[in-house]
Amino acid sequence: MDELKKPSKPLIYYWAIAMMILTLFNLLAKPWYQRAQITEVDYGTFITMTEEKKIAAVQVRDNQIVFTDKDKKMFRTGLMDDPARTERLYKSGAKFSSEIIEEASPLVSALMSWVMPLGFFALIWHFMQKRLGGLGGPDSMMFGKSKARIYVKSTEGIKFADVAGEDEAKENLAEIVEYLHNPGRYKEIGAKMPKGILLVGPPGTGKTMLAKAVAGESNVPFFSISGSEFVEMFVGMGASKVRDLFKQAKEKAPCIVFIDEIDAIGTKRSGNVMGNDEREQTLNQLLTEMDGFEDNTGVIILAATNRPESLDPALTRPGRFDRRVPVELPDLKGREEILKVHAKKIKHDPDIDFNKIARMASGASGAELANIVNEAALRAVRDDRPQATQTDFEESIEVVIAGYQKKNAILTDKEKMIVAYHEIGHALVAARQSQSAPVQKITIIPRTSGALGYTMQVEEGNHYLMSQEELENKIATLTGGRAAEEVVFGSVTTGASNDIEQATRLARAMITRYGMSDDFGMVALETVTNQYLGGDASLACAPETQATIDKKVVDLVRTQHEKARQILSDNRRKLDELAKRLYERETITGEEFMEILNDQTTLA
Ligand code: ADP
Ligand code: ZN
Repeated sequence: MDELKKPSKPLIYYWAIAMMILTLFNLLAKPWYQRAQITEVDYGTFITMTEEKKIAAVQVRDNQIVFTDKDKKMFRTGLMDDPARTERLYKSGAKFSSEIIEEASPLVSALMSWVMPLGFFALIWHFMQKRLGGLGGPDSMMFGKSKARIYVKSTEGIKFADVAGEDEAKENLAEIVEYLHNPGRYKEIGAKMPKGILLVGPPGTGKTMLAKAVAGESNVPFFSISGSEFVEMFVGMGASKVRDLFKQAKEKAPCIVFIDEIDAIGTKRSGNVMGNDEREQTLNQLLTEMDGFEDNTGVIILAATNRPESLDPALTRPGRFDRRVPVELPDLKGREEILKVHAKKIKHDPDIDFNKIARMASGASGAELANIVNEAALRAVRDDRPQATQTDFEESIEVVIAGYQKKNAILTDKEKMIVAYHEIGHALVAARQSQSAPVQKITIIPRTSGALGYTMQVEEGNHYLMSQEELENKIATLTGGRAAEEVVFGSVTTGASNDIEQATRLARAMITRYGMSDDFGMVALETVTNQYLGGDASLACAPETQATIDKKVVDLVRTQHEKARQILSDNRRKLDELAKRLYERETITGEEFMEILNDQTTLA
């Protein structure tokens, strides 16, 4: 949901207004109202009226005397030291009353001092509630009320056509749509729809979108709640929210319930006493609810997570979330389609090469691609162009991947030279190893992400498998930057830290996970624990084996580093030439790079 919300004023603002109104009311309105009814007279008048027996009722108060005449008109006067007053009043026939005067009209009075302020409060309360509701923020006053919202109700919602790529996931979910359209067919044959479907994949790949599309295609209500919303500050609230959500859903069946980030409540229960009570209660309630409703009630629960391995087994067993739909990062074709879908929303040059952009943005998620398109449009506006051009798109990839150009980063000449050699080092090693992807662009303009320069490589097509040789070449390319510094300057800088990290990770994976070492063969020494979030791995081997692994990783990287250094020494003239060009221009394209590299005339 991209809707803009008006910035709301803080709560205190409304309280302040309420208090001000009340104070003003008490200060001005009430006394004014009362005074309008009561005539102020002096003590002499009071005595005269007493003597003339004009007083009907009287009340002596702490600081004043209030009385009425025979016409029920009200008067007031100050209190004087007058011992004979009571006697005189008694004789005049005045009635001593304890409840006259202001309270003469108790209804009006009560109205003024109670009902109206209460009314004000009610009004303000109502107002605030609406505000809070609109914010969707946590509201501890609404105990246990579910915040599930109905998003999509009709066909004008998101459809499968809006979700580009992800054909397998769509195919899988199309069955659900079919079921919601025509449940009879399934009942007749005795087939049960899965109650829960787990959408698994990295962030930003369109899981939420797919869930919405299922609802949109089936034309049923769509409830959406995030797992983290269940975990409240009061114990027991999460469970009651779950109960409430399912109650609502059953009333609206058939419908889709979407639980985002289900790992927030669904992680494995620890079993120890100090566990997170609230989360476990919530999870238990969810399990109970899922078991509780019959098959074929028409409530389909979709849940999304990017940490499927952390989910409690109870949640994924048959009868609960037993179907798993992978939503992977888009491949080349998928990326191209996603770009096209989003590009429809902006004005752009009719002959944009989306394939090229998709190739440049390898590894980008759907959300990042959407962002790239938007950045391209923004860039066009910034530069006063009526539509986005190919350059806008290409430049925006860099913005999304590496951040904006840092306009005022000042590199010394020496630093700039080193960065130029470093980047050319990567590119040259890549280009001289046939299997490595060709270079798309090299730049030494610093970026807000902290990169001082980078070499953008382009994958020619989809890669599903990588050979050992390709992996080794990749490591060599990663070490190419540092190797160039060594070959040319004979010293090294901190600029290679990211390269080192990546090279090490690759080398480690080759040995511990891909079985690419002679000693260990096909034994898994590491298991990936976080497949969709960076791919952390944990070692599963003896300490001695660990030491061997470490040594092998070092050897592997060193060999490739050596190879890179050799390539650069052999191509020293080209290295100098290219680095000089990059230093002067700050950015060179892949074509320019290859032109210089293949230009034989300078090779004497
Ligand atoms: P997730 O729930 O997997 O984190 P979302 O469904 O919230 O991702 O996607 C975020 C945004 O990314 C969407 O609003 C959409 O603009 C874009 N997006 C992601 N995947 C796709 C896709 N396959 N096709 C079109 N747009 C996509
Ligand atoms: Zn580098």
